[in-house]
Amino acid sequence: MKNNPSGKLHIISLGCSKNLIDSEVMGGQAAASGMTLVGSPDQADIVMINTCGFILPAKEEALETILTLAEGKKKSGRNLKLIVAGCLAQRYGKELLEEIPEVDLVIGTGEVGRIVHHLQRLNTVKYERSAVITKPDFLMSSHHGRILSPDTATAYLKISDGCSNCCTYCAIPSIRGKARSREPDDILQEAQKLIGRGIREIILIGQDTTVYGRDLKTHPKLSNLLSELASLPGLSWIRLLYTHPAHITADVLEAIAGHSKICRYIDLPVQHIDDSILTAMNRGVSSERIREIISLSRRLMPDVALRTSLIVGFPGETQKRFKRLLDFVKEARFDHLGVFTYSREEGTAAAKMPSRIGEKEKERRRDLIMAEQAELSYAINQKWIGSVQEVLIEEESDRKGFAFIGRCRRQAPEIDGVTYIRNHSTEIGKIMICKITDADHYDLYGEIL
Ligand code: SF4
Repeated sequence: MKNNPSGKLHIISLGCSKNLIDSEVMGGQAAASGMTLVGSPDQADIVMINTCGFILPAKEEALETILTLAEGKKKSGRNLKLIVAGCLAQRYGKELLEEIPEVDLVIGTGEVGRIVHHLQRLNTVKYERSAVITKPDFLMSSHHGRILSPDTATAYLKISDGCSNCCTYCAIPSIRGKARSREPDDILQEAQKLIGRGIREIILIGQDTTVYGRDLKTHPKLSNLLSELASLPGLSWIRLLYTHPAHITADVLEAIAGHSKICRYIDLPVQHIDDSILTAMNRGVSSERIREIISLSRRLMPDVALRTSLIVGFPGETQKRFKRLLDFVKEARFDHLGVFTYSREEGTAAAKMPSRIGEKEKERRRDLIMAEQAELSYAINQKWIGSVQEVLIEEESDRKGFAFIGRCRRQAPEIDGVTYIRNHSTEIGKIMICKITDADHYDLYGEIL
């Protein structure tokens, strides 16, 4: 006999913002079907861990979280149900079910839209432990209810899902399926709903936002979508993340430059600059083109904040090729930069490549780049002292001398630094005009004007 899903659900969302939206969608559907969402596993009847399975550290974090909860369940003897969802589940679903007997249900990324059905199944008397791993083809729409974190003025908006790029180091296409875009009207409807819920900043995401629309019959353009979003009343900031250097076009950069609501922030994960490594990674872009995009961005927007991410230790990265990357970091002067050490992922083309580099050497290379970037970031941040910036106030600060923590347009949530604000005379969710009075390697400090 099937019941309506009832009881208390706690969701742990690991990994990136794309996974967070899946958690919000599953939470929204569960709540609409009658479940109560609770803030900790101890209060819950069901705990769902929405995992990331992108690279080794993410897999380790996910496994550790699952094992801790499984151990807690065993010790307490409580009738707690454990669900493992998300990317790790899509990749290793059957193994997870076999190896961890405390896990009751494993569902892959294709099952996000059927979460209520799975919660109903869990509630049946005859339920048997299972792993449901289907084709990863789910694409959310504005009709899916979403839960949002309380008090937030920022929300991510997924304009597409999946990826068809096949970079040789990446397992995402097999986990998340082919690139598929949402219709512009549906995205605009969701944006309007978010604005109605008090959201001031919308962050557009997808595995590769710059292939947006290519799979749709009408071939909508990302630049038009940006312009339409910028015309929505009530929205203050729009930010575009995950642009691919092979696909970003001048019209997208012009749209960002041309609308005051769109943050002059370009997230351009270049991964490497050596042409032979770029080819081996199947990035579909040359070092020359990467340099062109950077200079075009700066020509159109002299105040642009540029972020990138890099991979060090990819097979075949000789000392000479690494040196090229390090020199490029000095030359490009990115405002924000992250470095991953190459993670050999089974099932990817790069996993079969020879000339592998040891973990210690990869870490040494990462540390060299991070040390270089720390100096650059410090120098870049110093330049903003004395400037006037809009700051979105996000939380109270417990740092001495500062009442709030916020972000300016140059700072994306979670990945970049923050702006500390001295004054008490504001509240969370407001955008205040602030003068930057100090800066360190990652953060800015200021006061409300
Ligand atoms: S663009 Fe490349 S790195 Fe990014 S998700 Fe697609 S295959 Fe992976």
